[in-house]
Amino acid sequence: GDLSSRVEVVGNGDIALLARDFNKMTEQLNRNEEVRRNMVADIAHELRTPLAVILGKLESIQEGVLPSTPENILPIQDETLRLIRLVRDLQQLSLAEAGKLPMSLRKVNLRAIVEKITEQFEIEFEERGLNIEIKGEKVPEIIGDADRLTQVFVNLIGNALLHTPSGGTLQVLLDEVENPQENVMANEDAARGLRGVFRRKDDKAEEAGSKEKTSVDESGTGRWVQVTVKDSGEGIPEEELDHIFDRFYRVDKSRERENGGTGLGLAIAKEFIQAHGGTIQVKSKLGEGSSFRISLPLKPKNTSDVNP
Ligand code: ADP
Repeated sequence: GDLSSRVEVVGNGDIALLARDFNKMTEQLNRNEEVRRNMVADIAHELRTPLAVILGKLESIQEGVLPSTPENILPIQDETLRLIRLVRDLQQLSLAEAGKLPMSLRKVNLRAIVEKITEQFEIEFEERGLNIEIKGEKVPEIIGDADRLTQVFVNLIGNALLHTPSGGTLQVLLDEVENPQENVMANEDAARGLRGVFRRKDDKAEEAGSKEKTSVDESGTGRWVQVTVKDSGEGIPEEELDHIFDRFYRVDKSRERENGGTGLGLAIAKEFIQAHGGTIQVKSKLGEGSSFRISLPLKPKNTSDVNP
């Protein structure tokens, strides 16, 4: 229900300060409640369509309207798989948001991960007539969870593939940098494109009463690895950039669903990268392409549970 209780703020003594804090907390609770309600509505909506398809087909087969041929069973299987992906993604997302994502930390070679993924996508690249370039030989290994990082780059490279017309180019650039934030600010374009992401990244810091970014590397090395996934595809309209990391957000609602995406790919990428103490930023221009830049500290802050 709505928490409409507010107290009157009189004067500016201790009681007034308390009253102001109380009102602020009430507002925050209302906002949280609204976010939760929207999330449940979104999930219900995402579940409804595949379930309707599955039920419809099954009923037609049962009534004899549709013969139970492999072609008629395939969409049932597809939609079931989509539901399984959706549930898995939602579960991982909620674990990550709660800071409870199980992470198996080891030395990770990001270049090797990217190469393996592009090999797996090779047929798709050929079919679509896309070129892929990987640049950056000597990047240091980082401490991270190889499976989670693989999923992040599968999501980014998969998106680039979907949104780049034939003849286009996909580049993955690996780089070692001293300070990813300076790098970003040095680039006016990037700073503009990244605003939305940074704002979100700061949410937690602000809650904790600090306006400082939390992504400072405290491992003592002060070095980061940057991986940029850049495509020459359709691009993302500027007004959408603030939203693409949101759950279920799709720029082209109907088409994106047909692609089989859950609308959670970038939300997951953001959460997994943040779980490594890193940041993800986007820069895009309509008709020219998009570029997603991930910055990861060589070591996340809590590396006590590193496996040898
Ligand atoms: P989906 O499962 O729909 O791909 P994502 O969270 O991965 O969900 O992406 C959210 C939306 O961002 C996509 O639906 C698409 O509209 C847009 N998007 C993501 N990557 C790109 C890209 N490389 N080029 C253009 N649009 C993109």
